[in-house]
Order: sequence, then C-alpha cells, then structure tokens
Amino acid sequence: MTLSRANTHTCHWPGCKRVVPPNMWGCKAHWFALPKVLRDRIWATYVPGQEITKTPSPAYIEAACAVQTWIVGAGGVVR
Ligand SMILES: [Zn+2]
Repeated sequence: MTLSRANTHTCHWPGCKRVVPPNMWGCKAHWFALPKVLRDRIWATYVPGQEITKTPSPAYIEAACAVQTWIVGAGGVVR
C-alpha cells in the first residue's frame, strides 16, 4: 500500500512531522506525553471513520483543542 502525500497523516503535536496511522492522534512518544485524562477524552469522542469523512464531531474538536492548549501550557511547542 502506497500512501500519497495528500493522505499522509502526521502527529498532531505542534512541529512533529512523524507519520502515524489515520486513527491515531499522534506518534507514541507524544501521545503518551499527554495526561491520561486528555487521552481518555480523545478516545471518548473519536468516531471511527472520521479521518475518512474529515468531519470529526464537535466534541472531538473540543477535545483536540484542549490537547493543543495543554501542550502550549506545558511548553511542548516545538519551534
Ligand atoms: Zn509526535
């Protein structure tokens, strides 16, 4: 299976370009750097297939935003 550039899904950690499976939020190192409460929130709101339809639920977007806010607060933004 060949992944085209357009379908390449990368880690959501700011600045991380690691390619991860579409159903994963990010690479293992960054995923486990998140607090469990946020990881639970992502899983709770994740809908299988949303990476294909590109229409994640408002709850998932909210959870993803909370994650980005946490990363910035934790000083994890890679520049
Ligand atoms: Zn990463």
